[in-house]
Amino acid sequence: SVAVVLFTADLRLHDHPPLHAAVASADEVVPLFVRDPAVDRAGFAAPNRLAFLADCLTDLDAGLRERGGRLVVRHGDTVTEVCAVARETGAGEVHVAAGHSAFARAREDRLRRALAADGRQLRVHDAVTSVVPPGDVTPQGSDHFAVFTPYHRRWSGVPLRAPLPAPRTVRVPPGLRSDEPPARASVAGVSPAVATGGEREGRGRLRAWISQDLDAYEDRHDDLAGDATSRLSPYLHFGAVSATEAVHLARTRGGPGADAFVRQLCWRDFHQQVLAARPRAAVEDYRPRNDRWRRGAEAEEDLRAWCEGRTGYPVVDAALRQLAHEGWMHNRGRLLTASFLSKTLYLDWREGARHFSGLLVDGDVANNQLNWQWVAGTGTDSRPHRVLNPVLQGRRYDPDGAYVRRWVPELAALPGASVHEPWKLKGADRAAYDYPDPMVDLSEGLARFRRARGRN
Ligand code: FAD
Repeated sequence: SVAVVLFTADLRLHDHPPLHAAVASADEVVPLFVRDPAVDRAGFAAPNRLAFLADCLTDLDAGLRERGGRLVVRHGDTVTEVCAVARETGAGEVHVAAGHSAFARAREDRLRRALAADGRQLRVHDAVTSVVPPGDVTPQGSDHFAVFTPYHRRWSGVPLRAPLPAPRTVRVPPGLRSDEPPARASVAGVSPAVATGGEREGRGRLRAWISQDLDAYEDRHDDLAGDATSRLSPYLHFGAVSATEAVHLARTRGGPGADAFVRQLCWRDFHQQVLAARPRAAVEDYRPRNDRWRRGAEAEEDLRAWCEGRTGYPVVDAALRQLAHEGWMHNRGRLLTASFLSKTLYLDWREGARHFSGLLVDGDVANNQLNWQWVAGTGTDSRPHRVLNPVLQGRRYDPDGAYVRRWVPELAALPGASVHEPWKLKGADRAAYDYPDPMVDLSEGLARFRRARGRN
């Protein structure tokens, strides 16, 4: 018998329930990836993610070849291509990871119907892209948790399945046509320092992270210059690393660093279960606040200055320039730049989310949109009126100013924390720095936000 394994956001061989089940139940397996233009139209097509995806597919193919198989790539509509491959090989079953976005669910429904019409079965595997599937833990009277802390408590008590080994051999039916997988070199417009994708790279990072850096995570995760977070987000986004395996390894290691890290992985599931229950939260306020975000020419100019990292607030600019250069930004940077856009500038969070999504290699509809909403106070934050002050944030999380000097070279000669307030320099000293004045007065921004939200 033959089974097809459709890879989506799970580009790995280790801890892969669909592949594991297919190899166990069928004589031959078709590992299939479909490059579907509808995925791009749904918001995926950012050069940084396409480059990372190309690495992931190249690596997946290499891993399969080591096991006697190969990756089959097709371009086109996913449902059409999966059905065609199933027909060509006489496969009775198609295995796929459950998806949780509206897009993934609609695709899954179409696929199930099309296969059934052909007398074939779709087998959907849970807990592949998330640790605890959306809907598995719910509060009484609701289909999802709207508050993180009780979710985290329940989530932590869910028994974890043991991570699965990669199959030793994968036998692929001979003679199957495969389109050329996309190559990183052919993607235009990639940021200069986007991480290398792929399971091999991701697993290497995961192991090094758990054994060397995890213990310091609790103390250092907010240190902008120290860069002491795992940087696993793109691998988790593409499924090159299994979140279940990451939780398992961290818990085995134990300690406060492990607890803090696992808690962050819980945030990932938390946002997924919100989005699964409220798919419109990708575009609409989760909790409508009747905001009248600024619009018009001046607002557009402010948005442009923010996107380009020339707001005049050094730590904000540093973070936005890190994003442009690496396709990745430190979490503290994401928090303070998003607060600056949505609250201090009072611009629509969707504009900021769009800019992030165009660059982030880990850009993810659940994590990006719902974290933006959290910061903008339209989402699940229980303190929706808090506003992060970029000067205090800079002094606190970049106390020596090293992060700013790394990303804002115009200010590299300013010593220590003075780099956070270049406007305090006077006369010729100030004129020596080719760096803009602050685009907005912080107290005016705060007053505008409070007026708009109806709290003084
Ligand atoms: P670590 O600190 O090492 O955390 C480990 C993992 O936990 C991360 O890889 C990630 O998968 C998960 N995680 C950590 N924090 C969060 C969080 N707040 N919400 C959900 N999952 C989390 N993360 C994305 O993966 N994709 C996005 O598109 C995204 N957009 C964001 C937008 C804004 C405005 C904000 C404030 C946060 C966003 N995040 C997003 C969450 C977080 O900033 C990143 O996951 C994190 O910075 C990635 O770095 P890391 O892998 O080193 O994280």
